[in-house]
Amino acid sequence: MNFLQRLLKPAHRTVQRIDPNSIQFRLTAGILIASALGIGGITALTTWRMQQILLSGHKQNTIDVAERFGEDVELYQKMMPTEEALQRVIDYRTTGDLAIWLKSPSDEVLARSQTLSLPSWQAEGISTRLLNLERTNFVGVYPIADHYLVICAGPLKIAEQPIGNLYVAKDITQDQRSFLAVMRSLSLMSSAVLLAIALIIALYIRRSLRPIRQINQLAANVSVSNLGDTQLQLDQAPTEVQQLAQTFNMMLSRLSDAWRQQRRFVSDVSHELRTPLTVTNGYLQSTLRRCQTLTEPQREGLEIATAETERTIGLLQDLLDLARIESGSLRLNLEILDLKDIVVEVAGMADYVSQEVSIKANVISLFVRADRNRLKQVLVNLVDNAVKYSEAGDIVTLRLLRVDKQAQIQVVDQGRGIPLCDQTGIFEPFYRVDEDRSRATGGTGLGLSIVKRLVEGMGGQVKVHSKLGEGSQFTICLPVC
Ligand code: ADP
Repeated sequence: MNFLQRLLKPAHRTVQRIDPNSIQFRLTAGILIASALGIGGITALTTWRMQQILLSGHKQNTIDVAERFGEDVELYQKMMPTEEALQRVIDYRTTGDLAIWLKSPSDEVLARSQTLSLPSWQAEGISTRLLNLERTNFVGVYPIADHYLVICAGPLKIAEQPIGNLYVAKDITQDQRSFLAVMRSLSLMSSAVLLAIALIIALYIRRSLRPIRQINQLAANVSVSNLGDTQLQLDQAPTEVQQLAQTFNMMLSRLSDAWRQQRRFVSDVSHELRTPLTVTNGYLQSTLRRCQTLTEPQREGLEIATAETERTIGLLQDLLDLARIESGSLRLNLEILDLKDIVVEVAGMADYVSQEVSIKANVISLFVRADRNRLKQVLVNLVDNAVKYSEAGDIVTLRLLRVDKQAQIQVVDQGRGIPLCDQTGIFEPFYRVDEDRSRATGGTGLGLSIVKRLVEGMGGQVKVHSKLGEGSQFTICLPVC
């Protein structure tokens, strides 16, 4: 990358970041256009007015010379012949930038000033073009090549006798050039002022919009976990934005209340339903165990009812757990424990329960601070999923290893795997990969969300690596004590 490219890179990045739909861009552009029109208008008006003043001064000058010409000739006529008097007056009135000539009605030059023979008047055929002028009665600016001339032409009468047509021309090129140079620097200065105004306005608007950006950032970071503690504090903001922040804070409090009520409702309902269902399940199980006279259809019906109540009790327990975790009322009993014991215990349980999947556990001793029962619940949940979403005969492996300062428990299966697009969603409550919604896997979609929250409550993390059709690996990471 050469020096120029390196220099232009930040400017290019800034241009790319400009959003034409943003308030900042619209306000800046609007004020800039208004300022440009204002400053441009004033500059144009001033230029026009000054030009008028300058020209009218020069015009008046030529008119004065033309008007007094007749009187002067009359004075000289008393002492000399008319032709000589005419030339005298012409020589007397002529200056370096002024030329005078007189033409007869038949368009012949009767007398002319010496200036017309000067090189500056001869250049670019100025003198010739002036002497050949066809208009006879006018006052105005006459541009020739890059020269500007003010010309006053009109009939000359002496003692009421028409002599011919008198022309007075003044070269104002120098004045005009100086005037244009001044105007050019005025325009440059106006542009510089405009640029400075644009910069100041852009910075000012950016500063004024900062509170809105803060609101936006805050709104983007609001989640269920921080809903109750999030409040906007904008003391320096403009009144309108402060009102918006106030409304936003009130909305957050209302949302937080609604969320708290909903959690309480779920927790109360789960609790109230779980107790009678547990009792019902107990009766169903004891009837199945004790009653020997049941017919086959009756036994089958009772078994289905037992399975359904167990499933519903499980769901209610999950709902209760989730509600307690999210309301912060679930107390974790953290203690230093050896992960080896827990992994071996869970592997043993899984081996016993599941006949079609073999569990292999490679374990070493690793101490962490965790809640024994909740960690067991987490592992059982993961192993249960691994079994549920694998085929008969597939191996589910439980591994315990140490990576730097972390203890990792891995639950690895060779099941059907999870699509990449679902791998973050599965940790949200009630999220199930599409296929499982129609399949009778018996899941509720709450297991992994509880796993995640419990592990995070113990200061750890859950990660998933999965490949569709090849299997999944769920890893629980906990800091080693
Ligand atoms: P569920 O009760 O439906 O199993 P979970 O929260 O435990 O709910 O899991 C959410 C979803 O993640 C499941 O519906 C399933 O599609 C997917 N899933 C979880 N574990 C695995 C796994 N080991 N293999 C494949 N898919 C899995």
